[in-house]
Amino acid sequence: MTEDLENPRRPVPGELTFTSPKGRKPRRHLADMSGAERREAVSALGLPEFRADQVSRHYFARLSDDPASWTDIPAGLRDSLAEALTPPLMTSVRELTTDSGTTRKQLWRLFDGALVESVLMRYPDRVTMCVSSQAGCGMNCPFCATGQAGLTRNLSTAEIVEQVVAGARELARGEVPGGTGRVSNVVFMGMGEPLANYKAVIGAVRRMVDKSPEGLGMSARGITMSTVGLVPRIRELATEGIPVTLAVSLHAPDDELRDTLVPVNTRWKVSEVLDAAWNYTRVTGRRVSIEYALIKDINDQAWRADLLAKRLRGKLVHVNLIPLNPTPGSKWTASRPEDEREFVRRLELGGIAVTVRDTRGREIDGACGQLAAAE
Ligand code: SAH
Repeated sequence: MTEDLENPRRPVPGELTFTSPKGRKPRRHLADMSGAERREAVSALGLPEFRADQVSRHYFARLSDDPASWTDIPAGLRDSLAEALTPPLMTSVRELTTDSGTTRKQLWRLFDGALVESVLMRYPDRVTMCVSSQAGCGMNCPFCATGQAGLTRNLSTAEIVEQVVAGARELARGEVPGGTGRVSNVVFMGMGEPLANYKAVIGAVRRMVDKSPEGLGMSARGITMSTVGLVPRIRELATEGIPVTLAVSLHAPDDELRDTLVPVNTRWKVSEVLDAAWNYTRVTGRRVSIEYALIKDINDQAWRADLLAKRLRGKLVHVNLIPLNPTPGSKWTASRPEDEREFVRRLELGGIAVTVRDTRGREIDGACGQLAAAE
């Protein structure tokens, strides 16, 4: 457990490839490709381009990965199309459920043995999928279980999309209590730093918002990108024309503490991260969410609440307080209820919109990579 606050390992931000440590890449999949690329891939098989649209419909609209059910395609072609466009990317190692089956965490094994998690959470009015963008994470935040093991590799676009599609399938089949349903929200709050795997993550977001059957037909505002604060990438995200919700994992309003809690802060300071966030609100018109894990006697002092309120005042912002989910062996724990209440009260006094995050899935370590870490 890295708890040496004097000497956090320096993170290595930036792009890596999808190549696994064993030197292989995940198979190229329909969900990695634009519509035009899919048609090219089908032409390369010597088949007419409309077959690409048929397979897209089966995958994104019918959510079917079983070529036997692709009845509008001649039986003799189905397997070769599936082989070329929808190769299997991951297998479920185990699924843990809680909240009477409405919270479901999947542990996936990828082609090279890398493990990642996704969590489905069904609420009365929506279904949220929490997805991973990397196997492991290189950001090294000392309170986060995923951060402790370091980065294994980036996920491909299709490996990210498949997590959402798998949840959509469970809902469509009626396997989640509450009747058949659809995924309405996606949060990049599983394993990994999404903006450190920028290209693949943007590709996945495009597949989510592309109209059905070219993609999943979701609304961009239902997608939340959560980041430690990779400033150049936040600025780039603002230019994509996809107004996803931006969540910044701040966790401290002052550089001195944030340097230790979110080590990438030694590269981009609180003021730079917040400037990039305000630029995002200006360009997209979207309210930014500030994530703040309340850690007992570390970042939950009343003066820090006041400082946070001061730094956020007058902005299109909302604070999401997360009671710390303690990682095994950590000496850190969630704030006392009275300190949490006082923190909320001071933010509200400062005119800041604030909510305390619901801690669903805690019994199944739904918050932060603990199942994969234990495997
Ligand atoms: N790398 C991205 C997204 C993954 S983590 C990011 O840092 O934003 C999603 C959220 O869970 C982040 O706000 C992260 O700081 C928070 N988190 C991680 N470990 C936690 C823990 N043990 N308790 C509470 N929140 C945690």
